Amino acid sequence: MERSKETGYNSNEKKDTGDSDSMLNGHFDGMVKRPTSGPGHTATPQAPGVESGSHRPVASVKESWEDERSSVEDNEMRLPSLAAAYNSILRELGEDPQRQGLLKTPWRAATAMQFFTKGYQEKIIDVLNDAIFDEDHDEMVIVKDIDMFSMCEHHLVPIFGRVHIGYLPNKRVLGLSKLARIVEIYSRRLQVQERLTKQIAVAITEALQPTGVGVVIEATHMCMVMRGVQKMNSKTVTSTMLGVFREDPKTRDEFLTLIRS
Ligand SMILES: [Zn+2]
Repeated sequence: MERSKETGYNSNEKKDTGDSDSMLNGHFDGMVKRPTSGPGHTATPQAPGVESGSHRPVASVKESWEDERSSVEDNEMRLPSLAAAYNSILRELGEDPQRQGLLKTPWRAATAMQFFTKGYQEKIIDVLNDAIFDEDHDEMVIVKDIDMFSMCEHHLVPIFGRVHIGYLPNKRVLGLSKLARIVEIYSRRLQVQERLTKQIAVAITEALQPTGVGVVIEATHMCMVMRGVQKMNSKTVTSTMLGVFREDPKTRDEFLTLIRS
């Protein structure tokens, strides 16, 4: 059980406390069990620093930039059967899908779900094209409070919160808005927060080969708020530190201080 993800981050916000609650909601199982095989996966170059000092299987959560699961056209083709599935859901809930208020609901729900998972149609590589610049800047770059909306893959209900990203450039920088785009691509999928955090950090590492990367996500899981333990204000905090952010406590502390200020 990996619990070190909160190491060094002493948020004043209420946090998800205790393994039992988390286990109850099924959020910490399966996070490293994801199959790593797939087209293009092994061909992805491993950025230096990703593995250094890390005992965690970063590769297991990594997805190739080129990996595209479905296209916009696929979505259009699948919409009728997705709507039909929602129709079944309504029926199995004991509702009457033919009553006026629900007539268009299966289509609306299907369209909405496709929007919530639109990250499957987007590639990191397309976002980063033309946005990586050679620059001799070697001070920490931080973008904090990036809004994030995702879907819990265990319960298909929203996860929402904020993402803070920092990196220490190594001769290359990324257009600042692109950090938010990376968050968008990975969050608009079925997710667990831990994987989302790592995927963002690994994508930045692969793109920029920076000296270090830190990603912290603070999020509310509706599956915890609305069911299970029903903790209204609980927040789950996850962090991934790579390179000097992992190895050097001073760098990490600087990052954590700056995202809280
Ligand atoms: Zn959940």
